[in-house]
Amino acid sequence: MMAATNEANEETESKKGNKCLASRRFTTDSIHGHEYYDLKLGLFKVPIYMTAVWEQFDKNTGEPRRTDRNLDLKYSREENITVNSLEKALSKLEKAEDSLAFNSGMSALSAVYLATLKVNDTILISKESYGTTQQLASHMEKFGIKTILAGPETEELIESINDSVKLVIVETITNPLLKVIDVAAVAKRCTEVGSKLVVDNTFASPVIFRPQEYGASMTLHSLTKYIAGHNDVIGGSVTSNKETIKDLWDWRRKLGNIMNPFEAFLIIRSLPTLKLRFTQQSKTAKILAEFLEDNSKIKEVYYPGLNSSPYRSIADRIFSERMYGGVLSFKLREGKEGVFKFFKETKIIKSSPSLGGTESLATSPVLSAASTMAPEVQKELGITEDLIRLSVGLEDVEDLKEDIEQAL
Ligand code: PLP
Repeated sequence: MMAATNEANEETESKKGNKCLASRRFTTDSIHGHEYYDLKLGLFKVPIYMTAVWEQFDKNTGEPRRTDRNLDLKYSREENITVNSLEKALSKLEKAEDSLAFNSGMSALSAVYLATLKVNDTILISKESYGTTQQLASHMEKFGIKTILAGPETEELIESINDSVKLVIVETITNPLLKVIDVAAVAKRCTEVGSKLVVDNTFASPVIFRPQEYGASMTLHSLTKYIAGHNDVIGGSVTSNKETIKDLWDWRRKLGNIMNPFEAFLIIRSLPTLKLRFTQQSKTAKILAEFLEDNSKIKEVYYPGLNSSPYRSIADRIFSERMYGGVLSFKLREGKEGVFKFFKETKIIKSSPSLGGTESLATSPVLSAASTMAPEVQKELGITEDLIRLSVGLEDVEDLKEDIEQAL
């Protein structure tokens, strides 16, 4: 087994009192955080360990081989060194004790639901969140688990959390209207009533926000988005303390939904550019949001980095950098017809439901992420047919402006 030899990281307390692994600065950790180093070969790039099995007992010692997590290294549905390396890097970036990689964001969430809920429990989910997150929870009803939709504003969420709620799920930046949630305030309420808080940090990324520092029980990612970042990988992760991850690890082993080593390799390869990409996408998104605000064909623009956004002050308070992500939404005066015309006419921007990748993607939330929401919830939130969500890629901002202008 290779040696994982980065001794430089020592344990310390985070600024909010969580026990975390001390790490270097973000970009250094995004490059070296996997800790992989094969002493014998002088190899510091993580290989793809494309193997289902490992020889369980070490020929020299006769002892079982163990990973750094002190679990047997014998079968890749349980532990795989390429996947482990990604998990170590994710834990450093999220400033937390441990992480697990899954074969999609939904797969990670399924494991969380199964590991944490039992009959007669209640899940509370922010009304404005990824539709499939809500849908999966509501389908847990057949196992005697109840789902409540609440929020989406922080105060409304807090008011709805009581001691019958076992699990609370919120997104740091909501999808698709980009509201910023005060995670610390929600976490405080969850602690008071004994609920677990899962924060889906997909839209914010650890570049600007790390929920474990603010009292979240678990941080969830669709790695498919900013972290993998190239619109070519599906993956998910959960980050938490060692005890929670140990329990979830056993569920992942039973469910068999660990990430494949090739996907883990691709995501490890994406990490060193995560901050660069997110910074550029945030810059471009802000320019485009301001550009759209000035366009007479646009009814309304939603972006937490806009001076006019009601979420700008909370974003500036909780995000560690003055960045607001690469996703913005806007409504067209022309309505639904304008939306379809936009999708037909754009030359660079593609109509596609994902986000956080190198290519700019535009989607109609009523037909994608919010399509599984009840129509009355869509209406209440203002998720209407004239709405477009735009995920900004890494193209030149001037080309994107021209593309938008001609398509409008
Ligand atoms: N969470 C958010 C905020 C998402 O947008 C998505 C997918 O779009 C998911 C979770 C699910 O992730 P995946 O598609 O990787 O399963």
